[in-house]
Amino acid sequence: MRIAIGGISHETSTFVKTPTTRNDFESGFGLFRGQQIIERFTGANICVGGFIEGAKKHGFEVVPLLWTFAYPSGLIVREVYESLKNEFLQRLKDEESANGAVDGVLLDLHGAMVVEGIDDGDGDIIASVREVVGPDRPIIVTQDLHGNHSQFRVDQADAIIGFDTYPHIDMAERGREAADLIVATLSGDVNPVMALRQLPLFWNVPCQVTALPPMDELIRRVHDLELREGILSVTVATGFPWADVPDMGASVIVVADDDSTLARAAADELGDWIWENRHRWSCPPTSVREAIEKGVAGGEYPIVLADHADNTGGGSPGDSTEILRTFLDLQLTDAVVLYVVDPEVIEQAHAAGVGKRIAASVGGKSDPIQGPPVDMNAQVMSLSDGDFTYDGPMYAGLTGNMGRSAWLQQDDVSVVVVTAHEQPLGPAFARTLGIECEKMKYIAVKSAAHFRASFEKFAGVIINVDAEAIQTHDFAKLKYRKRQREFYPVEIKS
Ligand SMILES: [Zn+2]
Repeated sequence: MRIAIGGISHETSTFVKTPTTRNDFESGFGLFRGQQIIERFTGANICVGGFIEGAKKHGFEVVPLLWTFAYPSGLIVREVYESLKNEFLQRLKDEESANGAVDGVLLDLHGAMVVEGIDDGDGDIIASVREVVGPDRPIIVTQDLHGNHSQFRVDQADAIIGFDTYPHIDMAERGREAADLIVATLSGDVNPVMALRQLPLFWNVPCQVTALPPMDELIRRVHDLELREGILSVTVATGFPWADVPDMGASVIVVADDDSTLARAAADELGDWIWENRHRWSCPPTSVREAIEKGVAGGEYPIVLADHADNTGGGSPGDSTEILRTFLDLQLTDAVVLYVVDPEVIEQAHAAGVGKRIAASVGGKSDPIQGPPVDMNAQVMSLSDGDFTYDGPMYAGLTGNMGRSAWLQQDDVSVVVVTAHEQPLGPAFARTLGIECEKMKYIAVKSAAHFRASFEKFAGVIINVDAEAIQTHDFAKLKYRKRQREFYPVEIKS
C-alpha cells in the first residue's frame, strides 16, 4: 500500500492588508519536499507527523510530496498559491509515472485558506488532487478546528477529520486517525461518506477552549457520537470569522460508514444541539482596564491577558498598542507584553546595542485600527536573531524563528519587539532573551488561546481582553462583503 502525503496550509485573515507571499511559506515553518518531510516531521505533533506514525503502524509506504505552512496573514497571492499547488501536483504525477500509482492521499490542510480569487482554497486543492487521482482512490484530509467548511470540499474528499482540541494539541493524533481510516478504506473494511451541517453563528474564542465549560460538554458529545454504530468520525469547526468568504461560519462534519442517511442525521442532531445552545458560545467583551482590575482583585499572579483581537496566530498584524499603553499609564511593575511586531524599532534597538536607551515609537504602524504608536524612552535589555525551540505542548521539539527581536524596558514595563508574525505559544522565546515569565506579575500575549497550553501551568489567572485591534471579537464591527447569511448574535439576536 502506497499513500501520498503532504499539504499547503494557511489560516487567512482577509481583513488584514498584508498579502501572504512565497517568503511567508518558506520562512515560518518552512517548505519541505520529498524525504525532507519525513526527516523534519517524524515524531512531531502535527498531522503529517501522525501520517508518518500511521505508516509505521500499518506498514504502508509513504510517498512524501510537498508540505508547507505560512503563519496566518492576509490573502495568499494567486501566483504563489498556483506555483505551490502545481509543484505539489507535479510531484504526485512524477512519482506515479516513476513508481506506479499511489493507493490514496492524506492531506494536511488548515480549512480557512483563502487565495486571491479563490474563496475556498482548501476545496480548490482537494479538487485538484481529485483530478489527478480520479474518483475511486481515497483522499482523506485533516483540518484545524477553525475551518470554514464548504459543501464543495466535502464533495471532493472521502473524509475530513478536524482537531478536537483548542489549544490545538491533538494534531498527530488526528493524523494517525486519518491514516487508520485510509487503511480501513483501502482494505475494504469501511466506505466513508460525509455530511456537512453549516451553522450561522459567531463563536467567541473564550468559549472554544475545549478543556473548559461550555466547550468540554460539546467535545464529550462529539466523542459519544463517534462511539455510535456506523459513525467513523465527528468534527466540530468553530469557524474563522476573519475570513470573509461565503462559507464562513461554524459547522459539523460527520463521516459514517457507507450510510449517508446516518451521516446526515448525526450531523443534524449535533448541529441542532449546538444551535439550540447558541447563547453559550457567545460572551461579552472585557476591556483592558476591567481585566487588570479583575485580576488584581483576585490576587493570583501572574495575571495573563490574552490580547485576542490582535492575535498574530490568527493573522493579525501584532502591532496594536492599547495594552502596552495601558501598562505604562498604570505604571505596572513586573509587566511584559509578548510580542509587538515592529521591524523599524528593532533596527533602532540593534543599531543602539544592549544597555543603551532609545526613543522609539513602538507599534501601531500597520493600520489605524491598531491604535497609535506608543512613544517610549526604553532601555535595550537584550537582542536576538529570533531562533528558538518550542518547549511544548504545542509544536514541542520544533524550532521557530521570531526574526530579529529585542527586549525593551521602560520603568518596569517590558515589551518584546519581534519581526515574525507568530504568537507566543509559550515562554520559550522570551526566555532566550532573558525574561522569566514565571516571575512576572502581568503578562500580555497576542494570542487567543494557544498560549494556554503552556502558560496555564504557571498563570495565576488568564483573562481574554477586547483591546482595540483589527481582529476584533465584536463581530458587528467586521465589514463583510461575502458572508451570505444572517448570523447569531449580530443579525439574529436571540
Ligand atoms: Zn485553529
